[in-house]
Amino acid sequence: MQKNIYLDYVATTPVDKKVFQKMKPYFSEKFGNPSSVHSFGQEAMQAVDDARENIAKFLSCSSSSEILFTSGATESNNMAIRGVLRKYYTNLGKDAPIPHIIISAFEHHSVLTTCEELEKEKLAEVSYLPIENNGIIKTETIKKAIKKTTLLISIMYVNNEIGTIQPIEEVGKIIATENVIRKEDGMSKIFFHTDAVQAINYLDCDVQKLGVDLLSFSGHKIYGPKGVGVLYIKKGTAIKRIQDGGDQEYKMRAGTYNVPSIVGLGEAVKQIIEHSSEQNNRNNKIKDLRDYLISKVLKEIPNTYLNGSLEKRTPNNVNFRFDNIEGEGLLLSLDMEGIYASTGSACSSGSLNPSHVLLALGLKHEQAHGSLRLTLGKETTREEIDFTIEKIKTIVKRLRKISGNVLDEF
Ligand code: PMP
Repeated sequence: MQKNIYLDYVATTPVDKKVFQKMKPYFSEKFGNPSSVHSFGQEAMQAVDDARENIAKFLSCSSSSEILFTSGATESNNMAIRGVLRKYYTNLGKDAPIPHIIISAFEHHSVLTTCEELEKEKLAEVSYLPIENNGIIKTETIKKAIKKTTLLISIMYVNNEIGTIQPIEEVGKIIATENVIRKEDGMSKIFFHTDAVQAINYLDCDVQKLGVDLLSFSGHKIYGPKGVGVLYIKKGTAIKRIQDGGDQEYKMRAGTYNVPSIVGLGEAVKQIIEHSSEQNNRNNKIKDLRDYLISKVLKEIPNTYLNGSLEKRTPNNVNFRFDNIEGEGLLLSLDMEGIYASTGSACSSGSLNPSHVLLALGLKHEQAHGSLRLTLGKETTREEIDFTIEKIKTIVKRLRKISGNVLDEF
């Protein structure tokens, strides 16, 4: 019988059983609307508050009111950027100087296209900063890009395609220093946002240490449900809501609470907190499997490379590049073997364009097209990895032969 091997944990994770159990009563039993004044509604509100507390604790917030629930990280990222801009224009009027936003060239599309749209709308000037070949942005590059008009800097914590970890804490320090000077000069501060979607499972996300004003993440990447996310908003951040309507979420995001999903997200984060020491072991186990996969494939398949730094990378991410291979062909062949991987991010899989992340690393189009992302999770086993390695070897051999591009024999 063919087995299914899921190696796409960065695209999404299964809902943890404990998370699911915690969510269940909030569909048909405790279904009250948290905005209702009666005690049935307030019971649901209590569950939302508990989830908010868990998340505030995890991020080391100064108050749980700094946590805003959204429909996912896409909305959180839109809100962080558009919300800061909306407040800027509300305060200064539509004839205010066009503010400057800094992002990296390999941000997730929810940040990238939001910024591109804002430029088209002539509401912002955006700098898309280059990435080094190892998939990490230099803090010096960010420092140099800051202008008098810079209003917002948004740099992702971990890249979703290649797993490389960005120096968020250092960037936070640079911005804090710049803000001290600005304060003395009577200028408004620069706000700092990070998309931490791919960091939550593996890295320290203490917002005080990171020095961020805004941080986004999503439920479905951390063994929680889909369609729910968080935007951390530091107290005092000049931001306006982008979704108008009712007074929910401290008047910052209108719309009826998605109670079951919020409860699930809170429980997913609680699981991370409660298993933090065990989590280290789990992450080490994932990292060992990852390193085994990387070293075997690089050793046994010639003309194969790892995209992005090995050292500054989350434990779960592998992104290979194979000379003379079409990533899509490899992906489909793996799928036929029951192995579920990806060539880039799930959000852009409908596009035939090469990954903007891989191009940002300086790869040529054909190199970017020959890439494969395999991402591991807490259920991944050594047997699955061994099976996958063997299948990749066979398929690469076959595809190179078909295309008449046999490189070194193996
Ligand atoms: N940012 C990053 C880095 C992501 O990986 C994703 C999901 N692929 C998102 C944002 C969007 O998250 P969501 O699916 O919750 O909208």
